[in-house]
Amino acid sequence: MSQYADWFYLVAAILFILSLKGLSSPVGARMGNLYGMIGMGIAVVITFIHTPETATFMMLVAMAAGAAIGIYKAKTVEMTQMPETVALMHSLVGLAAVLIAIAAVNHEGITHDAIHRFELFIGCFVGAITFTASVVAYLKLAGKAGSKPLKAPWVKSVQIGLAAGMFVFGIIYFITESNFAFIVMTAFALVLGYFLIAPIGGGDMPVVVSMLNSYSGWAAAGIGFTLNNSVLIICGSLVGSSGAILSYIMCKAMNRSLMNVIFGGMGGSDAVASGDSGEEKTYKSGSPEDAAFLMSNADSVVIVPGYGLAVARAQHALQEFASLLEEAGVKVRYAIHPVAGRMPGHMNVLLAEAEVPYENVMEMEEINSDFATTDVVLVIGANDVVNPAAKNDPASPIYGMPILEANKARTVLVVKRSMATGYAGLDNDLFYMDKTMMIFGDAKKVVEEMTKGLSH
Ligand code: NDP
Repeated sequence: MSQYADWFYLVAAILFILSLKGLSSPVGARMGNLYGMIGMGIAVVITFIHTPETATFMMLVAMAAGAAIGIYKAKTVEMTQMPETVALMHSLVGLAAVLIAIAAVNHEGITHDAIHRFELFIGCFVGAITFTASVVAYLKLAGKAGSKPLKAPWVKSVQIGLAAGMFVFGIIYFITESNFAFIVMTAFALVLGYFLIAPIGGGDMPVVVSMLNSYSGWAAAGIGFTLNNSVLIICGSLVGSSGAILSYIMCKAMNRSLMNVIFGGMGGSDAVASGDSGEEKTYKSGSPEDAAFLMSNADSVVIVPGYGLAVARAQHALQEFASLLEEAGVKVRYAIHPVAGRMPGHMNVLLAEAEVPYENVMEMEEINSDFATTDVVLVIGANDVVNPAAKNDPASPIYGMPILEANKARTVLVVKRSMATGYAGLDNDLFYMDKTMMIFGDAKKVVEEMTKGLSH
């Protein structure tokens, strides 16, 4: 059987590539998922058959425990908790890489040649950085640690010191094969993971999530080299490179350079003051019925969904409301910002779930020039992605990030529960414009009220 294993792994790898291809468009996503599941199924079964008999029991226990936790998590996790769940999963890949590398280094009676020692060093430090960095990202995304960046003049020196320590002990291990040096190198990498993510502020978290995705892929590829497992090497490289491409896309969407995000850090809650001059600002508020009236009398409506739509799970109610508007002859489109929500593609997933027709869903570049000729913009649970400070206020921490230019529409309706800030912790001048009407309440309840308002 074992001589066929590599052939089966090759089939699994091809299925993973087809899976990525399918996942690149909403239409192919279901098939993409299916290919991925079959590929993973093949990889697990072949690996299991390949396992020496002495390890079969241990492997069965590990697989049963993993499957039980996985099924429980999949059934209970809320859509809004997906970003932190993904971060947590990345941390497990990192941890696995570290544990496997340490086990390989400490394996009695096995000597590692130079290439193998190099692979172990790289795989372990990438895994260790991925582990702690992902745990910090998880805590920030889950709201268990503030999104405020760690800002101090000494942070850069600590980062450089830790990286230097990691490389020095890595080289000592490489030359002397000292297990102790390997452990010290791992400890340096673990602490470095913390110091790489802690200085990054709320606004840059989308890039962090995709970067960790990439790191976890490289860590998996590292495990693949350690275990001499071709499917892990291929699969890890696919995740690593697609994560790197995603990081590039997210950086472009936010008009930031990757180096700037990793080594610069961006504003968190300490930046609130930049949008808040202390003066009393006034805003107008209205009822869902007022909003329904305005939209039903418009020729065109653009809906800007954000994180609050996901929290309220209002996507189905929103789609129902939008269909009624369309039946009344109003042109309705959705505008998606690349970093809206809390994970890449978050809004696309929500809208696809509610079966919003793909042709009504516009990317930022497609729709931005249309806002000036749009009658009504309905901003629903979005905040940072429509904050004009990103264009107008050079002092703002999000200055330079492209936004959906909702402020250019004739009338702006904003659905949220209060005047609270969004993820980046910044006040939003859009809410105080003369043409803006705030509609306070949970997004789902407000949309249901608006739907009722249409029939009156
Ligand atoms: P924001 O976080 O800026 O704003 C969401 C708004 O939704 C809040 O102001 C909140 O106001 C409102 N809200 C929350 N719950 C409800 C509810 N039940 N009903 C109605 N409104 C609600 O979201 P955006 O989508 O505009 O921007 C995304 C932000 O997240 C960006 O800063 C981005 O950088 C960051 N981010 C994005 C990631 C990604 O990959 N997409 C990953 C990590 C971070 P109120 O409390 O008053 O209701």
